[in-house]
Amino acid sequence: MSDVLPGGADRKRLSVLLPLVVQPRRRDARPPPCRWCGAASWWNGWRETFPVVAPAVASVVERWQLALPLGKCSCCHRAFTCYPPGVYPRRHYQLDVVAEVVAGVALGSEPIAHIAATVTASSTSARRWTAWVAALARAGELVAAAAQVDPSVATVALPSPSVARHPRAAAVLAGLEALGTALVRVGVAAVERTGLGRVLGWQHRRHGDVYGVVRGPRSFSSAMAHGGRPTTT
Ligand SMILES: [Zn+2]
Repeated sequence: MSDVLPGGADRKRLSVLLPLVVQPRRRDARPPPCRWCGAASWWNGWRETFPVVAPAVASVVERWQLALPLGKCSCCHRAFTCYPPGVYPRRHYQLDVVAEVVAGVALGSEPIAHIAATVTASSTSARRWTAWVAALARAGELVAAAAQVDPSVATVALPSPSVARHPRAAAVLAGLEALGTALVRVGVAAVERTGLGRVLGWQHRRHGDVYGVVRGPRSFSSAMAHGGRPTTT
């Protein structure tokens, strides 16, 4: 496969090759209260999305047709999107898909284009995701946060730099796995299957933080783990 990035439209169309799974429309009877002013809100329609997801079944990647319910505040009139657990905002390729590609790039020996092709992504995307993960956090801080969340967690052996194609991304992924495992062990519900998905998904559900490749905060702070165990909400 060529390393040349196809044009924007072609690149978006690559995932069309994946099987499309139509998800049923689901929403609660009422939307949550407005997160800016706390007033009651009402449902305000749906937004159609087509995320590429890695469901719980291992080594399967699917494209979903997923309608996201939209809410609107009755007081400040701000509109917002409600995301079901496991769906991360502003990501075509969802976090578990990204994590598995980055693991292959960082630790594997297969050509990057082949790894990217397994999820219909370009090698440029795979490289961009790898750089994003590498810059997302310090591996040592993630391991420390994991020990803080769950003191019973065993010492995590970070991968040896000499064996990794991208040592920093490999170390950050290992740190995210440790923290994600610790969060699951203390009872934080997680439908994601990778550390990256679990940790960022939990941050989003708990604090509303969104870490984007091109927008939003770029660097993850493990200060979120301070103050002891996370709540299970
Ligand atoms: Zn409001």
